Parts: sequence; C-alpha cells; structure tokens
Amino acid sequence: MARYTEAVCRLCRREGTKLFLKGDRCYSPKCALERRNYAPGQHGQGRKKTSDYGLQLREKQKAKRFYGLLEKQFHNTFLKAAKRKGITGENLLIMLETRLDNTVFRMGLASSRKEARQLVNHGHFTVNGRKVDIPSYEVSVGDKITVKKRSQSSPKFKELKDMQITVPPWVSVDVEKLEGTVLSLPTREEIDTPIEEHLIVELYSK
Ligand code: SF4
Repeated sequence: MARYTEAVCRLCRREGTKLFLKGDRCYSPKCALERRNYAPGQHGQGRKKTSDYGLQLREKQKAKRFYGLLEKQFHNTFLKAAKRKGITGENLLIMLETRLDNTVFRMGLASSRKEARQLVNHGHFTVNGRKVDIPSYEVSVGDKITVKKRSQSSPKFKELKDMQITVPPWVSVDVEKLEGTVLSLPTREEIDTPIEEHLIVELYSK
C-alpha cells in the first residue's frame, strides 16, 4: 500500500500545527514545531498564502495528515460522508474518528495514529473476538477491541498495564485486560482535532 515516507515533522511545520505523528516525542521539547515553528523549505518563513482556496486546501491537507490518509482515501471518505444523513463535515470527522486505527489510538493502546495503524496491520487486535487487520475498519457502538492473546505478552503491550490512560468519553479502556469498548459514536464536541471541517466541505463543493 502506498504511504507517505518523508520526514513527518515537516508535515506539522507545513500545517503550522502539531499533528502528533511521532508519539511521545510530540509532547516533549524535542518536537520540531517547538523549535522551528515555520513552514519547511527555502521560503518557509516568507509570505503566507491567505486566499480562500489556500485556507480550504490547507485545512483538507491538515485533516488528511492528522489521520494519516492519502488523498484518494480521504476523498472517498468524504464522498461517503456526503451520502449520509446529517451535516457532511461532522459526518466526515466522525468517520475519521471511528476508523479502527484512530480508535485504538484514542483508547491509549498505541502512542500515535501511525503506530496504531502499524499494530492493526500486523494483526494485533480483535474486534468482538474476530481478528481485524484493516486500519480503515469502521467501529460501531458496543464493539470490543482487544489485544490478541498472543500479543499481550509483548513488551509494548505489557508496559501499558502500568500506565495511566486518559480516554475521550466515547470509549472506555481496561488496561488490565488490554481491551477497549466503543461506548457511543463521538459527537462533534468530543472530537478535539483542530479542524474547521466546513472549509473542507467548501473545497470539495467547488
Ligand atoms: Fe509533529 Fe510530533 Fe514532529 Fe512535533 S514531534 S513536529 S507534533 S510529528
């Protein structure tokens, strides 16, 4: 599968916001954005684009990079969101939040979305007892996401048992069992991603 392989901190600098792509490092003074809060490249500190189109494009790029999707995947998610009942922008964010990789990250079972995607890809999780290794799998209310028995003894998951994990209200986690539950679908207010989704809808509506 195609994926972005350049230095990910450049993406945060390009968007001017933390996208939290590197786990613990993102919360430390080593974060590249703390040290160089301007766009990468020769003209990174120069004039910034402020046209409506520029703002809409940047917002879409930010959302896409935040959730680690490629252009086509992101656009397809948008098209599905537009077909659902309700507000398209909110539908889009809820669909991105309820991806299995993001849900695993939100449950604290991975330190970043990137790591969550890798763990899911490698088949470390079951959903309601069945192995699911598709990061884009959309979770539903009541789903139980569990670290597979065989994986529970790995140092990565063992160390979680000693950690204090804070989760958003729409999920719960039992670190002893290495298992999380989807309690409800997230509401817009419960999604703390710094995205102005109406700009993305405007962009794709052109
Ligand atoms: Fe972004 Fe994390 Fe790199 Fe900071 S350390 S620039 S938040 S990926």
